[in-house]
Amino acid sequence: MDSQPKPQILLTRQEIEAAVSRVATEITRDYHDKHPLLIGVLKGSFMFMADLIRRLDFPLEVEFIGLSSYGRGSQTSGKIRVVQGLRSAVKGRNILVIEDIIDTGLTVAFLLDYLQKKKPASLKLCVLTDKPLRRRVPVTIDYLGFTVPNKFIVGYGLDWDEKFRNLPDICFLEGEEQC
Ligand code: 5GP
Repeated sequence: MDSQPKPQILLTRQEIEAAVSRVATEITRDYHDKHPLLIGVLKGSFMFMADLIRRLDFPLEVEFIGLSSYGRGSQTSGKIRVVQGLRSAVKGRNILVIEDIIDTGLTVAFLLDYLQKKKPASLKLCVLTDKPLRRRVPVTIDYLGFTVPNKFIVGYGLDWDEKFRNLPDICFLEGEEQC
C-alpha cells in the first residue's frame, strides 16, 4: 500500500534548465570579475547550485550552510537556527546566497541578517522558486527562477519528509495544500 502523496509536474526539467540558464546569464553579467562566494542553503539548493555553477565560467567559490526551518512533512516548526556552519570567511567577500525556495521569508531573512553581521563586501540573493503569497517578512530577491503558486512543491532538490529530492522536475503534492 502506498500512502505517499502523488507528485504532479508543475515545472518541467526543460523549463528549469531554461530558467537556470537565464539566471546564470544575469549572474555572469554582475559577478564575472568579483570572485564571489556562493552559499547554498542545505539541503534543498544542492541541485540548483550544481546546475547553476556549471554555467558560470569565471572564478568563484562554493559553500553550503545548513539551517533548520521545517520539521517533518510540510508543516513549519517556526524555529530557525544554523545546524551546519560555514568554513569560509565572509568578511569582505561578495556573497551570493543560493536558495531553493522562499515561502514566509523567515529563513532567508534570518540568514541574510546572520551573514550581514559578518561584514561581507556585498550580499545578494538568488532564488529558484518564490511563493510570494505566503510572505511574512519582506525579502528582496536579486535573481529569481520562478514565482510559484501556494502549493507544497518537491523535486529538483526539494523534499517532503526527505523524499522526492531526486525528481528531475518540480512537482506539487496532491492533498498537501498550504494555508
Ligand atoms: P520560509 O522560511 O521562507 O517559510 O521557508 C523556507 C524553507 O522552507 C525552504 O528553504 C524549504 O526548506 C522550506 N519550504 C517552504 N516551502 C516549501 C515547499 O513548498 N516545498 C518544500 N519542499 N520545502 C518548502
